[in-house]
Amino acid sequence: MANPWENLKGIAEEFYSGSLRARGLRFGLGFIRGSEVKQQFYCEQRLDYAYSRGDVDLEHRESIARRIVSLTLGVVKRPVVKGWIRVPLIAVIEDVPVIASPDAILVNGDRVEVVVKAFITEKPNPQVYRSDTVLAYLHLAMLHSLGFRVNSSKYYIVRGVKDEVFKALVELKNNGRITESNVKAVRIVYDEVRAREILSWAMAYWKKLRPPKPMPSKAKCSTCPYREVCPYSIR
Ligand code: SF4
Repeated sequence: MANPWENLKGIAEEFYSGSLRARGLRFGLGFIRGSEVKQQFYCEQRLDYAYSRGDVDLEHRESIARRIVSLTLGVVKRPVVKGWIRVPLIAVIEDVPVIASPDAILVNGDRVEVVVKAFITEKPNPQVYRSDTVLAYLHLAMLHSLGFRVNSSKYYIVRGVKDEVFKALVELKNNGRITESNVKAVRIVYDEVRAREILSWAMAYWKKLRPPKPMPSKAKCSTCPYREVCPYSIR
């Protein structure tokens, strides 16, 4: 396999030129974003309502994706050989082009040592959710499919208030670990079999191989804009 950066450059160029788009996906989409995969694990039915009822501006979505991929193209011109880098990823997962943006990646040649995704919240007792873990698997699977070595990568999900998250990330950068107790930090290692299982289930929805899965809960349904029309709504 070619150098991972060359792979990323090639795929980003194909996407930017418009030649890399999937056919036959739901709602005529040609690619999927990482945030959409994350939303699937919050409530896929809600995501389905948003697209099927025309509540998502598809032209805007396309222009955001092109902007993200233009950032990728800027970074891959002079990729970092060893050190921290921020680069949006584009890869083909389960035959579906996917764009997703980890916050930072520590690379050493073709080896990914650390990946970080941070979430800011004002809520006390921040949690890490299943959808965060799915996003982590997606990012690692994308890096893997581009040719990076991820077997020993450490992926950190960090959630908390802004200042505390910042402190935790500085600690991670300087000391290689997070001891900051005011944030929720979870470390994940890549499990290729698990990642394939999760992502093949997720992509099956976009490929119209299964219907959307409702994931109701009182908390989610009470704030959902589709609660009046959704037969799965819990009150
Ligand atoms: S009402 Fe509940 S189950 Fe239905 S789409 Fe909204 S969050 Fe999902």
